[in-house]
Amino acid sequence: MTVFDPKEKFKNLAKIGPNVLQCIACGDCRELTDYTSDPPRWGVCVAKDHTSGFEPFFARGKMQIIRSLWQGKLELSKEMAEVIYQCPTCNSCAEACAYDMDNVAMYEALRADLVEAGCGLEAHVPMNQAMVELLNPYQRDNKLKNNWLEKIDFKVKDANKEQAEVLYYVGCTAALTPDIENVAINTAQIFKKLNIDFSVFGEHEVCCGSVAMRTGDRKAFNTVATKNFELFKKSGVKTIITSCAGCYRTLKKDYADRMEELGIEVLHTIEFLNKYVKENNIQLRHLGVNTTYHDPCHTGRHVGLYEEPREILKKVANLTEMKTIKQAAKCCGAGGGLKKGFPELALDIAKSRVEEAEETGADNLVSICPFCYRNLDDAIKARNSTIKMVDLTDLINQALD
Ligand code: SF4
Ligand code: SF4
Repeated sequence: MTVFDPKEKFKNLAKIGPNVLQCIACGDCRELTDYTSDPPRWGVCVAKDHTSGFEPFFARGKMQIIRSLWQGKLELSKEMAEVIYQCPTCNSCAEACAYDMDNVAMYEALRADLVEAGCGLEAHVPMNQAMVELLNPYQRDNKLKNNWLEKIDFKVKDANKEQAEVLYYVGCTAALTPDIENVAINTAQIFKKLNIDFSVFGEHEVCCGSVAMRTGDRKAFNTVATKNFELFKKSGVKTIITSCAGCYRTLKKDYADRMEELGIEVLHTIEFLNKYVKENNIQLRHLGVNTTYHDPCHTGRHVGLYEEPREILKKVANLTEMKTIKQAAKCCGAGGGLKKGFPELALDIAKSRVEEAEETGADNLVSICPFCYRNLDDAIKARNSTIKMVDLTDLINQALD
């Protein structure tokens, strides 16, 4: 008779270690109130608030599913995946949980076990396949990553052949989405104005693998991560800057060991620029526009970049904060494969974030992530809102004129 060994059956959950059973089912993640902060922070589980709100949609239920799997009382199934994937992995629940657990690391491990058992979400298969075969998850020709470079009037160094002080890692969303390519154009123009020596990989840039990691396709993730490791190693780069929150979290945290081995520092563009502007006493023109700021989950809760975007934003514009900010900020709804797997739910969440932004009376909704930009802009259009979606690089570029 074979003895049931959860470590053998759920290899990805097993990597989490004893924390996998740490949840005491207190339910604090239901309302997400952190009384240890002063004043108390009120967070939001967007999965609970925008679905039926039953247990498996918020953290406690997910943790009980994991416990039941571990005890051999439950089997992985496609029905389970339907619920587990209705979560943008925003990590708001980790802020509320007194146990200092990395909740999202557990959901991602569960998703990886679901995928390996053949129970992943069908909607994610072509996306992760394209990432491996075409080097981007958008199922487009990677040569299109050169398009934005033709819209600027100076030559950018090719990281495949030329050395530069920093590598600008553009990311697939900004490089391949015509509506959002301004993020790449503005970033390059800012670097040019500040005389920063930089390069890009252009059509040879390989997706960081964020969506594969978030949706549980570890095989696809490891394939692109290995390709990137070889590219970075060959280029000899020591500083990577990215304007995408998803790439930032992935390169900084999921690639941490690889980056340490190569001695590479990873910075978000805004983190780099905020420091650069202060250290070099660069004067930025105040544009006099009224803005509010959306914290992307992958720069905020996942890494802790809260103050730097606000510092530089306040130099170029007026800032009125939304009801939920920083650790308690409401997610835009795009992440964790939600926009691909459950587009209606992702849009519904984004609409409620846009509503919060409208309540501030600001004319511009500012963020620092092309993926948040895309979902929030879709929600602005769906609501016929007059608020304008803006990437912070756009304001900084104008402020340097
Ligand atoms: S995940 Fe944390 S906050 Fe939520 S029920 Fe479990 S122990 Fe409580
Ligand atoms: S990651 Fe966000 S949406 Fe998912 S369960 Fe936690 S708080 Fe809810």
